[in-house]
Amino acid sequence: MTIEFSLSNRQRDTLAMVHQFAESVVRPQSLQWDRDHGVPHDFLRQIAMMAQSMGGGLVMGPGRSSGDEKEPSADEKKRRQPALSTVLGAEAMAWGDAGLLLCLPGAGLGGPPVRASGTPEQKKRFLSVFDDMSGELRWGAYALTEPGAGSDVAGIRTSCRKDGRHWVLNGRKCFITNGARASWNVVFATVDPALGRAGHRAFVVEKGTPGFSVGKIEDKMGLRASETAELVLEDCRVPEDNLLGGEDGYRTKEGFMTAMKTFDTTRPMVAAMALGIGRAAYEHAVAFVKEHYMLARSVPRYAAIAERLARVGRQLEGARMTTWRAAWLADQGQRNAKEASMCKAMAGGAAIRACIEAIEICGAEGSIAGDGRLLEKWFRDIKVYDIFEGTGQIQRIVIAKRLLPDLKSF
Ligand SMILES: Cc1cc2nc3c(=O)[nH]c(=O)nc-3n(C[C@H](O)[C@H](O)[C@H](O)COP(=O)(O)OP(=O)(O)OC[C@H]3O[C@@H](n4cnc5c(N)ncnc54)[C@H](O)[C@@H]3O)c2cc1C
Repeated sequence: MTIEFSLSNRQRDTLAMVHQFAESVVRPQSLQWDRDHGVPHDFLRQIAMMAQSMGGGLVMGPGRSSGDEKEPSADEKKRRQPALSTVLGAEAMAWGDAGLLLCLPGAGLGGPPVRASGTPEQKKRFLSVFDDMSGELRWGAYALTEPGAGSDVAGIRTSCRKDGRHWVLNGRKCFITNGARASWNVVFATVDPALGRAGHRAFVVEKGTPGFSVGKIEDKMGLRASETAELVLEDCRVPEDNLLGGEDGYRTKEGFMTAMKTFDTTRPMVAAMALGIGRAAYEHAVAFVKEHYMLARSVPRYAAIAERLARVGRQLEGARMTTWRAAWLADQGQRNAKEASMCKAMAGGAAIRACIEAIEICGAEGSIAGDGRLLEKWFRDIKVYDIFEGTGQIQRIVIAKRLLPDLKSF
């Protein structure tokens, strides 16, 4: 096994640029976007065009999925950047503002299932809508969760039945990031709940499809700049060409596998975003301690606080290395399901701990006044990183299943 910790010159340069942008442009607007529940479209367009000029998605770029993806086309390869670059950018941007990251135009979480399971025609048709960001902004989204089926992905109830050259979908999806504004949502449905995973199908449901509508927009505790929507499918007629991978792809558990492959790509990215928030809180606390504690407070108290900060620092660093490895494995075309879950579980936990410790160390004074408002926001933003893309408990189950494949009782 080769162990390589150094980044390429290009990765280092891009990272420095993203960090500078996050610090000087993003961070100063972060609280305002949180209050406004959104980011102005002009600003999003500016960022999207900048990302494009840098040769692909800056942060929510496609990345790659793990080993069993079909060989991508030359067009598709051009559109991508390595998963490792994506996680580096995601951490740097989330350090500036994590909500912004989720708002960025592009295929977003909808991209990985199209890339993993779409036919060449579907990939071209659905992904090329994001090629030009100079005009109307466009988003893709990923609609799996339903009331009663979040962690239990296999338990989805949204139904689909074939009717001539269409599929008819009925059900509700909830908590869908960018679902309301998306040009299309990848919607998961089942031909028969009794079939479990084998009954799952994944469809690209385009905006304006008859029977598709948007329900409520959530008023969330954190990541308030990002829009989270309920989607309603009432006799929604989806053309048969929008069944991802076509009917031949579903002779086995393919539909469910599409959902799972998506997680292998997105979990390292979500882990990196959590690390961005965790690092922001950690650095805030370190700066606060340097300024307020070193001279004024007693040595034993300072030593205890330094020890707490050291613990946070090493947990973040350990989670970062695990995240990089999960992304690196994807770049090598190797399976990374276990590592993707490991980094998601570690990063979510480490970043939540970083925010809690920072709030406690800075106290009321350091977490409410001035820059401390950001700390309060990060504290609200971070919790969901241990919920979406699979909760911490679910990651631990995935890891345990990989470690103990013969144990059937999970
Ligand atoms: C801001 C936000 C954005 C989101 N964006 C999207 C999106 O774009 N697309 C999408 O499809 N979904 C999205 N989600 C949904 C998210 O993926 C789910 O909330 C998540 O999977 C958890 O599901 P749940 O909320 O139904 O909780 P539940 O599954 O009901 O879990 C409740 C608790 O039970 C625990 N639990 C569940 N099963 C087990 C088990 N077997 N063993 C031990 N403990 C268990 C969980 O860990 C959790 O602590 C989003 C959610 C949020 C909050």
